[in-house]
Amino acid sequence: MNFSKNISLKKLNTFGIKANCKLFTEIHSKSQIKHLIQTEEFKRNNYLILGGGSNILFTKDFNGLIIKNEIIGINILSENDHIKNVKVGAGVNWHKFVLWSIENGLSGIENLALIPGNIGASPIQNIGAYGVEVKDVIDKVWAINLKDGNEHIFTNLECKFKYRDSIFKNELKDKIMITHVSFNLSKTAIHNTSYGDINEELSRLGAERSTKNICNAVINIRKRKLPNPDEIGNSGSFFKNPVIKSSKFKKLQGLYPDIVGYKMSETDTKVAAGWLIDKCGWKGHRNNDAGVHKNQALVLVNYGEATGKEIILLAKKIQKSVKEKFDINIYPEVNIIG
Ligand SMILES: Cc1cc2nc3c(=O)[nH]c(=O)nc-3n(C[C@H](O)[C@H](O)[C@H](O)COP(=O)(O)OP(=O)(O)OC[C@H]3O[C@@H](n4cnc5c(N)ncnc54)[C@H](O)[C@@H]3O)c2cc1C
Repeated sequence: MNFSKNISLKKLNTFGIKANCKLFTEIHSKSQIKHLIQTEEFKRNNYLILGGGSNILFTKDFNGLIIKNEIIGINILSENDHIKNVKVGAGVNWHKFVLWSIENGLSGIENLALIPGNIGASPIQNIGAYGVEVKDVIDKVWAINLKDGNEHIFTNLECKFKYRDSIFKNELKDKIMITHVSFNLSKTAIHNTSYGDINEELSRLGAERSTKNICNAVINIRKRKLPNPDEIGNSGSFFKNPVIKSSKFKKLQGLYPDIVGYKMSETDTKVAAGWLIDKCGWKGHRNNDAGVHKNQALVLVNYGEATGKEIILLAKKIQKSVKEKFDINIYPEVNIIG
């Protein structure tokens, strides 16, 4: 087992934050995880599992062990007339898997194209975009308990998926390492174009509603709307959309007719956090290299040399102003480390 010392994490987090870790290692198989947890380096240090680093904000150097999950492989476990059950290694890039599914004539994850990061993190916050959440297609999650090395296989129900949430973000946070995820992908196209601008983009492209065209439409929309982390450091949506009582939403609608919300149930409404932040005047704000993106108020950005602490300071100011103006608490979606 190789441990490197004092490694820079700048290229390993999409926020592009300068931070070093004390120790760094890569995992390529389940047996390596079982071996790792017996080592002194693991036993004596704090650790952090890293995938693509696209949902993480380092606020200082990490004085412990970073374990980068590099387990690869895409294998079809079973199929019937309608479904292929596909098991994928945690270290496989999410978008590459989306493209693989399209090339193999499978449908179900085309709306989730271009989401950065790896397969292993996809169940953790139940990634979602354009009306689809990954919980809709996850069959099982394979994980190793980092205390005793035992393997656990979680059914979809056992993952306790919710909006940007799962058991892995709560009870099991930092206790297990996800090694594989299996997905039920559809052989017959089941399209969801009800959300966002997908239909408009398909008309603009003059393209029919096929799985591949929906994937391309999503890619185009995302490229137009979201900053590319290779150009401006960011972690996508910094805050979760808050869920409030529908009665409160109605009152706010009286004051702000253009408020954006989606009914979750009879009693609850999810409010677009980007709209709230924009209304507080933050869009395009910049202090040194920490800022709020000029087109997307929900995305905090690092123009180059921002520190994690500067991003946090900005996030706190935004939370405070949203609370003062709307009496709504907004919370980070991003994992804050340090
Ligand atoms: C430009 C941009 C756009 C984005 N758009 C979206 C979007 O539309 N929808 C959405 O839901 N998200 C979005 N995100 C957030 C991000 O892409 C997802 O949360 C993604 O799943 C994170 O994957 P990752 O591999 O980079 O995880 P990391 O950032 O490396 O890790 C995230 C968390 O998961 C843990 N972790 C990672 N891998 C494992 C593992 N194998 N086992 C156990 N724990 C693990 C880490 O310890 C950490 O706590 C966006 C991010 C960016 C930068």
